[in-house]
Amino acid sequence: MTAVADAPAPQSTIAPGASVLADARSQLRTATDVLGYDRGVYEMLATPRREVTVSIPLRRDDGTHEVLVGHRVQHNFSRGPAKGGLRYSPDVTLDEVRALAMWMTWKCALLDVPYGGAKGGVRIDPREHSQAELERVTRRYTSEISPLIGPERDIPAPDIGTDENTMAWMMDTYSVQQGHTVLGVTTGKPISLGGSLGRATATSRGVAHVAFAALADRGITVHGATAAVQGFGKVGRYTARFLAEAGMKVVAVSDQYGAIADERGLDVPALEAHVDATGSVVGFTGSDVLDGSALLELDVDLLVPAAVEGVLNAGNAERVKAKAIVEGANGPTTPEADEVFRRNDILVAPDILANAGGVVVSYFEWVQSSQAFWWSADEVESRLAARMDIAWRDVNTAARQRGLALRDAATVLAVERVAQAHLLRGLYP
Ligand code: GLU
Repeated sequence: MTAVADAPAPQSTIAPGASVLADARSQLRTATDVLGYDRGVYEMLATPRREVTVSIPLRRDDGTHEVLVGHRVQHNFSRGPAKGGLRYSPDVTLDEVRALAMWMTWKCALLDVPYGGAKGGVRIDPREHSQAELERVTRRYTSEISPLIGPERDIPAPDIGTDENTMAWMMDTYSVQQGHTVLGVTTGKPISLGGSLGRATATSRGVAHVAFAALADRGITVHGATAAVQGFGKVGRYTARFLAEAGMKVVAVSDQYGAIADERGLDVPALEAHVDATGSVVGFTGSDVLDGSALLELDVDLLVPAAVEGVLNAGNAERVKAKAIVEGANGPTTPEADEVFRRNDILVAPDILANAGGVVVSYFEWVQSSQAFWWSADEVESRLAARMDIAWRDVNTAARQRGLALRDAATVLAVERVAQAHLLRGLYP
């Protein structure tokens, strides 16, 4: 291996965050049009209920100071407390967080978990900061947003660049301020600190579950089918593992450092060991180097974008050859690309369905935390599978009945549930 391919990057237009929000609003617009809702309902659902921007002064390990910016956007509370991840990335913008918060509202409604939607983001490159610095950033950010969060208000969870340690620090900071331990303020915590069995792999379990259903829908046998996975973090890694365990050939994977391929199918357990040892998929023994963008255009049965927004767009959609796309990431497909995939008869299992396993098991964790009664891994997994099955069936039924693509059908179902809750509650004052 001589060259490292470029990391896959979102190829959206001018301001990435702004275009992601425009994408989310365009999906909402389609859904409210299908449902026959008026402009007022669209405006209400297109606008976050509450948002806060905070500055986070950080004392770095070398004694210097810098000031970071953080956001928390609470999009909707109609069906319960707001829920959603916290992202640490140098690319975070308020508009991006607004879009991600809106998608959380639809995801929770679609899977019928009793939450609204929220998202948080801190503009920081976690790779450039020590664990001690990340802990200080997390504690100060939590302290700044603490009036807005809580088990009955808004419950953060991990997202890109954050993990179970982040959730432990958040929970501790909030609890110290309250004067008692409040396990239910975050989810995705370590198992020994009120986390749920199966949470760490839940998003990927759900993605794999939906992928198997999508392949069946296309008449493709799972065993021996080929897959490419973009991203090898919390979602992509375990998705690749579950696909391989089911007998699929994972022929290409990528991370932020590069992409690799093996047409015979990568040895995923060995690849995981390589990533644990080196921090990247790049350089895995026996694999070929692949361009990050070429991974998205491979002739495979299944493509799983599990990295960032906007990677499947007007610029590359016509070259995508996968039979089915199952969205591990939030917002990887732009509306323009959706249109191309629909025309080219490529099945797209949308993010709010495909990657909802994470928030479903977050809900299970919150229930377990509030009852101080813990479930077995089997209970978690079977309850997750049951919910994913119901959502897959509901979305497919709605798509058939209304003649819609799966994303539009999923958004319609979710938006209808949120709007119904809103109408039943009535408008105050
Ligand atoms: N960040 C994940 C997502 O985008 C999980 C959110 C949660 O568990 O609250 O769905």
